[in-house]
Amino acid sequence: MLENCWNQKYHLEIFGCQMNFHDAEKTAGILEKMGFTKADTAEEADVILLITCCVRENAENRLYGHLGNLKPLKQKNPELIIGVGGCMAQLPSVREKIAEYHPHIDLLFGAFNLHQLPDLIMRIRETGSRILEVPGDGEIQEDLPVTRESSFRAWVTVIYGCNNFCTYCIVPYVRGREKSRRPEKILAEVRRLAAEGIKEVTLLGQNVNSYGLDFPAAERTDFADLLGLINQVEGITRIRFQTSHPKDLSDKLIRQMAEAEKVCEHLHLPLQAGSDKILRMMNRKYTRDDYLRLVDKLRTRIPDLALTTDLIVGFPGEEEADFQDTLEMVEKVGFDAAFTFAYSPRVGTQAAKMENQVPEEEKMDRLYRLIEVVNKQAKAANQRLEGKVETILVEGPSPKRKEIFCGRTRGNKLVLFTPPSSGPDLIGTEIKVKIKKGLTYTLQGEVVDREVF
Ligand code: SF4
Repeated sequence: MLENCWNQKYHLEIFGCQMNFHDAEKTAGILEKMGFTKADTAEEADVILLITCCVRENAENRLYGHLGNLKPLKQKNPELIIGVGGCMAQLPSVREKIAEYHPHIDLLFGAFNLHQLPDLIMRIRETGSRILEVPGDGEIQEDLPVTRESSFRAWVTVIYGCNNFCTYCIVPYVRGREKSRRPEKILAEVRRLAAEGIKEVTLLGQNVNSYGLDFPAAERTDFADLLGLINQVEGITRIRFQTSHPKDLSDKLIRQMAEAEKVCEHLHLPLQAGSDKILRMMNRKYTRDDYLRLVDKLRTRIPDLALTTDLIVGFPGEEEADFQDTLEMVEKVGFDAAFTFAYSPRVGTQAAKMENQVPEEEKMDRLYRLIEVVNKQAKAANQRLEGKVETILVEGPSPKRKEIFCGRTRGNKLVLFTPPSSGPDLIGTEIKVKIKKGLTYTLQGEVVDREVF
């Protein structure tokens, strides 16, 4: 089967979160194992696969627009295979629309049949028929080939799916229930990565804090235990993870974060809203006081912790007083950064059916007011680092200005600096920089110790 694809090219388009980017790395790995090579543009590809995200409603409309743009390529080259993967492909409504209105799409696939891609592609080649059935659930497939984007940091999925059913979120419906990977499989992968020169691993899951809860109690490795195991892997110098649901952030995990020296001093802890009424309607299962208590515990154990969050404004029923509660929480906690969203209803979720949807104009007004407060805090947090020396993992030239390099602190802050003449040699190494200036989104630094680690 493999030789059939020599000299053929693939093109991937990726939307959404880190889980999708990591799925794309696996997809690329599988295609390359089949003999495909990466195309420079969609025009020269023999297979085009889209890894989609369904978290936001307008993502679906954007997908259809995008599929329309690919039609001329298929008309020009009828042999071209176009496939749609990721969360969106697992939504029945999307499947129906693609089946009916987008005949140039040959293939739908999901997270649970990534490993079948070679077979699916070859079947389409041989029969010319479309394959639009996607399994909604299945076994975790281990040892898939992965073509990683970076030579010094890597994503490692530790848990799939989500059991939480936040009322605004479609993920549990498309990604299924929580399934943890076996700890020995994860450890083996991390050891392999370390042997290949990877320094930083980011452990991924919709809710990593519930890792292991699906194992029998007697043989349970929970997320805190897993961090402890990965902390011992030689060669790995930094461990990150996301995302953490506040209701599952245990004292044991906080202790482990403080004690395991490779676990970075950064936590992304989505608050979503500061009003208890809205948190209840979102089915988040914690209150503002619970969240504040967690922040207190975290900062007591890890004083340098950088804390980031997600915030939604304009959830159905949110009144000005609820929004003020969110602003007040943001002021109280003092986040280092926040992803802010105006609520957008997602068909298939409970919140989309709720009454009292907030008018668009009101949502946008609240969003702008929130961003102003968040940005002020982010800048203040970054300014507090001025004069300090931070260890950064050098990523390479900044995407916008090639003569400037960038790297990340353990707190996950992006530092821009002028590289010494040995600049390229520093990529993937840890160096020390003195923070000269803290801006809203970045820090400006100066190299003080070029000694690589
Ligand atoms: S925890 Fe809530 S927001 Fe996160 S994936 Fe699960 S249902 Fe969605």
